[in-house]
Amino acid sequence: MSDKATPVGAVRTAAAPVQHFIRAIVEADLASGKHAAIATRFPPEPNGYLHIGHAKSICLNFGLAEDYGGTCNLRFDDTNPEKESEEYALAIQEDVRWLGFTWNGPVRWASDYFQALYDYAELLIDKGLAYVDDLTADEMREFRGTLTQPGRDSPYRDRSPAENLDLFRRMKAGEFADGARTLRLKIDMASPNINLRDPVIYRIKRAHHIRTGDAWCIYPMYDYTHCISDALECITHSLCTLEFEDHRPLYDWVLDQLPVPSHPRQIEFSRLELQYTVTSKRKLNQLVTQGHVAGWDDPRMPTIHGMRRRGYTPEGIREFARRIGISKSDNVVDMAVLESAVRDDLEARAPRVMAVLDPLKVVLTNFREGVTASRAAPFHPQQAEFGEREVPIARELWIERDDFAEIPPEGWQRLTPGGEVRLRYSYVIRCDQVVKDAAGAVIELRCSIDHDTLGRNPVGRKVKGVIHWVPADAARAIEARLYDRLFTVPEPDGDKTRDFLEFLNPDSLRVVRGWIEPGLPAPEPETRLQFERLGYFCTDRFDHDADGAWVFNRTVGLKDTWSRQGGS
Ligand code: ATP
Ligand code: MG
Repeated sequence: MSDKATPVGAVRTAAAPVQHFIRAIVEADLASGKHAAIATRFPPEPNGYLHIGHAKSICLNFGLAEDYGGTCNLRFDDTNPEKESEEYALAIQEDVRWLGFTWNGPVRWASDYFQALYDYAELLIDKGLAYVDDLTADEMREFRGTLTQPGRDSPYRDRSPAENLDLFRRMKAGEFADGARTLRLKIDMASPNINLRDPVIYRIKRAHHIRTGDAWCIYPMYDYTHCISDALECITHSLCTLEFEDHRPLYDWVLDQLPVPSHPRQIEFSRLELQYTVTSKRKLNQLVTQGHVAGWDDPRMPTIHGMRRRGYTPEGIREFARRIGISKSDNVVDMAVLESAVRDDLEARAPRVMAVLDPLKVVLTNFREGVTASRAAPFHPQQAEFGEREVPIARELWIERDDFAEIPPEGWQRLTPGGEVRLRYSYVIRCDQVVKDAAGAVIELRCSIDHDTLGRNPVGRKVKGVIHWVPADAARAIEARLYDRLFTVPEPDGDKTRDFLEFLNPDSLRVVRGWIEPGLPAPEPETRLQFERLGYFCTDRFDHDADGAWVFNRTVGLKDTWSRQGGS
């Protein structure tokens, strides 16, 4: 019955890839012989855990390499030492592997290239294409101009290469205070593209770096580092999100000036935004550090760690990426698209069992020891290899409270006073008596079995409803963690005048005690099951036992209830 996880590295999305403009470019480049093989890279900054947006980028970069027989590097963009940590870097590697991808060769780091980047900077100085500037950050902002006004040249712009070289070496040697000087490219302060107005490429910052320790007190900026790292790794297609479109002229400018081994092509695609959540590491970090969630791997988080803990499968996430496709247009995707990709994957892979989460007692008044019989039931209607188990009937059962209605609405097919229903894999029963407590709440149903209905239709009437149940004495206790959307509005960060935290859903987690059918082997962490009629559940990776109860996270409901008021 165990959910046999696909071995890491063997995860495959079953469906055919969806064509998109980047695939077309790659195909053309291979057909024309521009490239014999493609090389992509996934370049996360280790300043947080990866989220669903990164999963899109991972599936794109690693997926292209897989589909076209190329390679994909994993390279950490570690140029902001203060924000980066080993914990994040390790979690990111775990996520990429868990999604089923293998990077080419060793893990790479932008910091592997710090010396090369530095040497190239000296070369740019030599060529008169970079200068040391003494303007303060505020002054620099003032000199930069605006979208409608050109910038002004810094008074330090015309320093000689010799003076710049001397100052730059002294910056590196630690002679100046943090922020006192910068190295800037000498491009064009009047360019309509602000990114080309002499961008800073080095700053002084005495910060301990996770890889290089205190070896450097100057750090290269992202734009300068990224293009050179791509070129040194002979990346053919450097894929990034649309906000870098205006940086592309800078990417190309830098590579055009330097004797780098290759000149990758930058191609932009739209970021993924998902409704009812946020996809920004900074905001996710805020949720974690301010305690709004239990951690980066809280199952409500759109992080890969969170989705994993919730029970999402790598195949489901990859299928989601396939379905949303790649384009240049805005991409705010309905949560239902992610959920249905996950649900469709779980449908075939999760064994089905019965569990009751809001129990109401049923006493079978004509239960007869030795006469009333149990049946075996398959763990999955289509997957015979999952096997079967006995579903033991007993005198007292738990059923779901909302499978009984004293005053049934029209069309009701479940239990009601005097009505009949089939117990899944068992008999048809009739509700003869409703027992209430002093306050009038229903506490028990007294029902009788039609002993002629085990594996057969009742004679002379139709019983349409089928409900799930567990035997009260033998059932095993479970804790079920029921998740709802984390935010109450589709775009929590859409209103610039309000803090996204105002839209946190106070009811995003509900913990209930319930019962699961007996006889199941103790599930391993991350065992995925369907609770019949209730949804897909996954045993928690870390909390296995809450006071003797197995702990399950609800991954997703059986149907799309997302668009309905109140969530899933
Ligand atoms: P965030 O804004 O969440 O911090 P980021 O872009 O700064 O994201 P990086 O670690 O730099 O995070 O991202 C690594 C790669 O993932 C980049 O190539 C980036 O373009 C891509 N990426 C990040 N967020 C998304 C997203 N929402 N959709 C698609 N790709 C994304
Ligand atoms: Mg970034």
